[in-house]
Amino acid sequence: MKTFDPSTCINDYLVFGEFGDVNPSITDSSTFTFRNPGKMEELFDHEIEGCFLYSRHWNPINKYLSNALARFEDTESAQVTSSGMGAISSAILEICSSGDEVISGRTIYGGTYALFKNFLPKLGIKVKFVDLNDHKLIENSITDKTKIIYGESVSNPLLEILDIPKVSEIAKKYGLKFIVDNTFSPMIITPVRLGADITVHSMTKFINGTSDCVAGCICSTHDFIASLVDITSGATMLLGPVLDSFRAASILKNLHTLHLRIQKHSENAMFLAEEFEKLGVKVYYPGLRSNRHHGLLDSIRNEGFGFGGMIAIDAGDYNKAAQLMTRMQEEKVGYLAVSLGYFKTLFSSPGHSTSSEIPEEEQKKMGLSDGLVRFSIGLDNDIQPAYEKIKKCMKEINIIK
Ligand code: PLP
Repeated sequence: MKTFDPSTCINDYLVFGEFGDVNPSITDSSTFTFRNPGKMEELFDHEIEGCFLYSRHWNPINKYLSNALARFEDTESAQVTSSGMGAISSAILEICSSGDEVISGRTIYGGTYALFKNFLPKLGIKVKFVDLNDHKLIENSITDKTKIIYGESVSNPLLEILDIPKVSEIAKKYGLKFIVDNTFSPMIITPVRLGADITVHSMTKFINGTSDCVAGCICSTHDFIASLVDITSGATMLLGPVLDSFRAASILKNLHTLHLRIQKHSENAMFLAEEFEKLGVKVYYPGLRSNRHHGLLDSIRNEGFGFGGMIAIDAGDYNKAAQLMTRMQEEKVGYLAVSLGYFKTLFSSPGHSTSSEIPEEEQKKMGLSDGLVRFSIGLDNDIQPAYEKIKKCMKEINIIK
């Protein structure tokens, strides 16, 4: 187990507002003044510390949030974006040109899958989907056109763990950039410490934690972030997925409670996963010793944050899954809603929602069954009552005896 503690990095991050405010001031301007035109010209050429030009490029509050994220992902630099998809697409397009290839894990978020399968080919970028646990297959899929290996640290929705140290060895051997989407496991996994080059997040999820906005980030080296914001050629500068500064301010405040939230999400998820397993339900949770990726996650995770707040169960078929979700919402276990990382429990059926972009045949190949229900477990102080309600619903629908 690694000894890195991302929460200390956040705790040590002290910034002051204009008048010594404990929360840095919100930037309420799209543009910034200069005392002389020469300085403006200089800024068009290269970044100048503490000097701002235009909010699509940088503004102070987005910089503060980006710096906090860089500390917590242990990277030299970071940039916030207006969505997780904005972060993923910008990172890919910064690296790839027409004719290039990407090797991607096949169990990934449906929106990312659709971007890779349907959109990137329009730009002449080809994506090969492989099982990233099959390291021979990764090597066999690499050609002289390959530029990127892309995967999710904890995959959506089957919660498979990416062997980041092993895949990063392959990426380094062939001179490829290794991008890891760490949306499901902030605090728990620090991909760059394990060998990844770029970490992306949908901050919409656990990092923000209040399901009131859409946001993302890219964490990497100074050089990579500088290339993204390059005024004449950078992907974020020119595609423009800029995060609104009011949102950056609220996300920065929420980031400071992330360590506590992740601990509680993990504690509640572990309890439910163990109880579901005892009931004989098929459970996917990498915190369970019976899970095939338990040992791997245990060997790469940061101590003290558990195994994450996501669980998936197999209800048997879609009909039962749909009935279970309807009944759980009626019983006030949580909400039948996509997304994750909220303080209330959320549940959805991936095959019929967040992974529906993936063709049925592919879903079968990756082991995504029709009866799968994905849970993002909430922050209930006592999770036992929620468990009792879920058990009651499972009995009614004949998922358990
Ligand atoms: N990555 C993962 C793992 C996700 O689950 C999602 C959204 O569900 C995204 C990326 C996309 O993020 P956003 O909705 O913030 O654009």
